[in-house]
Amino acid sequence: MPSNPHIIIIGGGASGIILVRQLLHFHPSAHISIVEKKNPWGAGVAYNTPYDFHVLNVRAANMSAFPGKPDDFVNWLKEKKLPYSGAGFVPRKIYGDYLCELAELPAGKKEQVRFIRDEALRVEKRLVHLASGETLRGDFIVIAAGNFLPTKPAAVRDEIAQDKNYHPDPWNYTDLENIGPAEDVLIIGSGLTMTDVALFLHHRGHTGEITSLSIHGFAPEVHGTHISPNETFRDEMRACETLSGYLRTWKKYAASGIGAESLAASIRPFVQELWLKISIPERRQFIEHLRHFWGTARHRVPEQCFSVLEKMQPGQLRFIGGRIKVIGKSAGRFEIFYVPRSYATTTSVKAHHIINCTGPSLHYEKDAPVFLRTMLEEGLVCRDPLRLGLDADSTGQLINPKGGLHADLFAMGSLLRGTLWEITSVPDIRVQAEKLAKLLLGL
Ligand SMILES: Cc1cc2nc3c(=O)[nH]c(=O)nc-3n(C[C@H](O)[C@H](O)[C@H](O)COP(=O)(O)OP(=O)(O)OC[C@H]3O[C@@H](n4cnc5c(N)ncnc54)[C@H](O)[C@@H]3O)c2cc1C
Repeated sequence: MPSNPHIIIIGGGASGIILVRQLLHFHPSAHISIVEKKNPWGAGVAYNTPYDFHVLNVRAANMSAFPGKPDDFVNWLKEKKLPYSGAGFVPRKIYGDYLCELAELPAGKKEQVRFIRDEALRVEKRLVHLASGETLRGDFIVIAAGNFLPTKPAAVRDEIAQDKNYHPDPWNYTDLENIGPAEDVLIIGSGLTMTDVALFLHHRGHTGEITSLSIHGFAPEVHGTHISPNETFRDEMRACETLSGYLRTWKKYAASGIGAESLAASIRPFVQELWLKISIPERRQFIEHLRHFWGTARHRVPEQCFSVLEKMQPGQLRFIGGRIKVIGKSAGRFEIFYVPRSYATTTSVKAHHIINCTGPSLHYEKDAPVFLRTMLEEGLVCRDPLRLGLDADSTGQLINPKGGLHADLFAMGSLLRGTLWEITSVPDIRVQAEKLAKLLLGL
């Protein structure tokens, strides 16, 4: 391995920027090129919102970019004289500013770290071809291309998807501005993206009905104020070897009166360890039957968002569980036919607009950036057995379709969902970035 390898990072979101900082921490003259096609450095999709009411769903105290400096973000807030404590939920755009500042390197570093505003179009062995025509040659390539737009649900036919009132991108607020305040809206999905959109509509003075339709119909739960991890539960979980062991232990503690939020918080830093221990069929079982329950226990909304959602219910905002069968349109309104969760007969809801809030797409063959789709088509990389991301080992080193490890290709963040499960948020990304930086630098 060269003593100072050239590392190319595709994607300048949180993962890419945190990796740059880790590489420079371990090797002050590391040679890096980072390519970002459109977003401000560090912002990605998550922190690229202009609205104060879109806040982090993790407390500030747990949002440092560096595992070794847990107070880094809170100290940054203090330095900027911003009125947020470690226990608070800070506007995401402020977190975007923090990450953007991490991308501002001292003048002396500008030659060794190139921030390239361009799109990666093709990856070949150690080469990255950019839309501008430039080709980068590196020793290692790290794919940190993150969260893709939600995939189009199968029940949304092309003719509906092309309608101007069908909104495929829930993060495109300019497009959502076209929704009239008195119009009825159907949101497909009930998670954090739905929450973002409901808050957006609320703050614009929306008076029309908003229906959230998802498979289970769960409404988001609120972050509790006094959550203390239970160490005995955590240790018992870590001693288990099977999914049924995890479930038995969880149920035992839940029956003793400990809430799902405390249980989830107790094992949160160890989820990757628990995931890596169980077999692929067990992981599949978890995804099929338990993923939504885990998601509701773990992905909570801050009180300030929850209280707005509560105020909107049940008069304006309602949650229904069911599976969409077909969508029609007549007299300026969509009619969404769905089979309710109770398996009653098909019923329908009408709306002027449909917003796809099903979360970042896992359908890479259709929705991933073109360079990644080509890599999949050409058999350079492959999907993990659960098809949640790319196949890789636990460090992020990518695996080829024959099962061999690529010596020079790595992935970060949500691309590793199948391998590590909990790897999409900053507390996990920063740990991966530190480990990956050491690995790439041969430390
Ligand atoms: C709406 C939302 C809110 C979230 N809130 C939180 C939160 O509060 N706390 C938390 O910890 N996590 C949160 N997350 C999780 C989030 O995944 C991570 O925090 C983090 O932003 C992920 O960063 P990333 O760099 O891996 O991906 P992304 O942020 O998606 O960045 C990937 C970047 O790659 C670029 N890119 C893609 N293809 C190319 C190409 N071909 N060439 C060049 N550039 C390319 C994209 O433009 C993008 O900027 C949230 C996620 C979402 C979607």
